[in-house]
Parts: sequence; C-alpha cells; structure tokens
Amino acid sequence: MALLLQADGTWQPMDDAALRRTLGQPLDATADCFVVPGLADAHAHLHYLGTEIGVGPDVFLAKGVTAAVDGGSTGAATVGAFVATVCRPATIEVRFFLNISLLGLITIRTSEFPTPEVIDDGAAVAAYEQYAEHCLGFKVRISRNVAGEHALTALDAALSAAARTDSRVMVHVTDPALPFDPVLDRLRAGDVVTHTFHGRGETLLDGNGKVRAAAWRARERGVLFDVGHGMNHFALPVARTALGEGFYPDIISTDWTPFTTDRPPVYNLLTVASRLVALGMPERMALEAISLRPRRLLGLGVRPPGPGGDLAALAWDETPSQIPDSEGGMQDLPRRLRLRAALHRGQRVAGTAASG
Ligand SMILES: [Zn+2]
Repeated sequence: MALLLQADGTWQPMDDAALRRTLGQPLDATADCFVVPGLADAHAHLHYLGTEIGVGPDVFLAKGVTAAVDGGSTGAATVGAFVATVCRPATIEVRFFLNISLLGLITIRTSEFPTPEVIDDGAAVAAYEQYAEHCLGFKVRISRNVAGEHALTALDAALSAAARTDSRVMVHVTDPALPFDPVLDRLRAGDVVTHTFHGRGETLLDGNGKVRAAAWRARERGVLFDVGHGMNHFALPVARTALGEGFYPDIISTDWTPFTTDRPPVYNLLTVASRLVALGMPERMALEAISLRPRRLLGLGVRPPGPGGDLAALAWDETPSQIPDSEGGMQDLPRRLRLRAALHRGQRVAGTAASG
C-alpha cells in the first residue's frame, strides 16, 4: 500500500496500479511505501568548483534529491561564478542564501569575517537583485569562532538586506556570539534558524533544560526551524528534549559538504529524517519536512504525480543500526528510510526499482 503526500499537505492512499503508472515500473508490492513530491534539501553546500566544501548537484540527484538550497557558500564577490557553474546548468533545482560576507565560504581554514569590511549589505542587496531568480535571501553565521566580535554587525547587515529586498535570512546559530533570545526575537516570519539542535554554547534549551520561550515565540510568528545537521550541529540531548516537548523542526536538511556526504554523522537526507523519526518526530511530519516544506521554501510548486513532476517513493528498511551525533553520542536507529524510486521533471532519475 502506498500513501501519497498531496500539494495541500494531506495524505491519500494510492493503489498499486496508480503507483505503477506514476513510476513507469512496479515496486516491490510487499513494502509499504510513501510517495512525496520530490525530495528537497534546504541547507547544503553546492559550490563544488569554487569552495572547499561544495558537493556537486549530480550527487544530490543520484540520491533522488531534486531540489537543494546552498546555505551561504557564496558572497557578493563570488556569487557570479556560482550562478553560472551551479544554479544555471544544474540538473536539479538550486537556490541559495547569499553570505552577508563578500567572501562566502571559500575555505574552511579561516572564517568569512577576517575584517569587518567584508560585511557589506549594499553589495549583498545588489547581488540579490542581479540573481533574484535563484537567491532566497541572506545567510549569516553568528558563531563565536566565526563572527566573534563582528556578529552583531553581520546580523544587522543580513536583516537589513533582507528587509530591503523583502526576502529572508538564514541564521547559523551554533555557539552564538550574541545572546540567543534577542537574536530569536529579531527574526521575522519566513526567516530560517538553521542548526536548531546544536549543542554548543547557548542552545535551543534554556537554563532549565526546556525549549526557550523565545523559540516558541519565533515559531508562533512564522520563523522556520531547520535541522542543518552537518558535522557539528546535532546534539542528541537537545533534540530529544525538544522533540519530547513537541518542538519539531519545520525543515530537515543535511548541511552536506564532502566531509559528511555518505559519512557519519550525517550520511544523507533520508538518514537524517530517519533519525528524527526515531527520536519521536511523527513520521508523516518528517516526510513533509524533506519534501513539501523545503520545496515551498525554494518557491517550487508541487505538481500532482504525472508528466513533468518530481516525486520520490520511500520505504522503511527495518535493519537496525547505530549512528553518532556531533557530540560523541550514539543513537539506535531501528530502521531507515530508503529511496525506492525518484522522478525529476517526469524522468526516472534514481532508486532501486522492483527488486530493491
Ligand atoms: Zn551550512
């Protein structure tokens, strides 16, 4: 039996004949299967020719991920090459948040804020306007080891650029150099907090170990909370507590770089979603957080299954395993979501077909 996630967010049963017609070939009929409108990764790094941390779009496609957002790999000084070499020719849909630093994330050996002169909201706005077709807004990293004393200047610039372009900010909040509650209070509907479950410095949890009131207030206003797993941004105790309180992420993403692609602690988008389900996130909500919701963030429509559309068919693999978090913790994973089939613009692009 298959369940289909529709554009309006409801789930409908899909019979085997309809599934076969949609996919163009049969799946193993014994497996329960979920059909979602295209996998989308709302935070990753794709500038593979221009930074040390990029993963090429074809790697996403091979996993059935047909839309992805780059989280700040480029700034106003480097964005042209990214649009020309990634966004435009990519086989998948690519959008990006422009780093508020002119430099973007060229190298991981130094931060993007060597001097405050690289923070330039005027240049960022001009770049947004030039590449508005692909640019969703502005990325700012406010970590102590990244922005340090420049964190407030950088956050102010990103919020100003977003306000002037009627776009969004994505704020990387791991080990913030600024008091976290006032940062959350400044975010507006549609802005994105990434690395929601990090475990360094001030986290999502307050001094009493509860989800901080400012986070609930931000959610109430329409601020989006993204997992952005990455190498360093997922702490099991934070995630367990938050999910236990019913604070579920709006979006599940990998923060993929070459260092985490198919490697611990991230592996891939389906493994991150499986981890969230194992920790208590409702299954359907997790599936929406890797498809419908990030597709909306990208500004992509959701077509009904059929010609020209994107979709992914997923099923649980009940083989148990263990996966680490970013802080030395280990999590039992009783089962993992596996890709059975994926279509991009109506064409079969990945999956394991009938025997898989
Ligand atoms: Zn990132």
